[in-house]
Amino acid sequence: MLFDFKLSTPEEGLVDITSEVTEAVVESGVNEGFCIVYCPHTTAAITINENADPDVQSDFINGMALSFPELMTFRHSEGNSDAHIKSSAVGASETIIISGGKLLLGTWQGIYFCEFDGPRTRKFYVKVIGG
Ligand code: ZN
Repeated sequence: MLFDFKLSTPEEGLVDITSEVTEAVVESGVNEGFCIVYCPHTTAAITINENADPDVQSDFINGMALSFPELMTFRHSEGNSDAHIKSSAVGASETIIISGGKLLLGTWQGIYFCEFDGPRTRKFYVKVIGG
């Protein structure tokens, strides 16, 4: 089953989408399988990271800015090449195992939509596969 979600994003930041993905898995009725969380944008991404300390999320964004700064030598006329690079570095999707009808996430793991060029209205897809 394929589920699609919309969300409003900040200028730059991580949006916790774990509850939306969990809803999709419950609604699918899949007990054993996996799901793919997919972002159809070129300046955003999907990742799994710590959900306990919100400082991890802001450190993540700060670290990405230091690792992939916007450079004067970039040629892309839209002026957001740093966001395009961050998008590819993090990746457009994550795959999560479903076991016993639940996402097999670690205690400290959450699923995040990463915005690198907001604020925008974005979407993401959850494809649930299994039986
Ligand atoms: Zn661009």
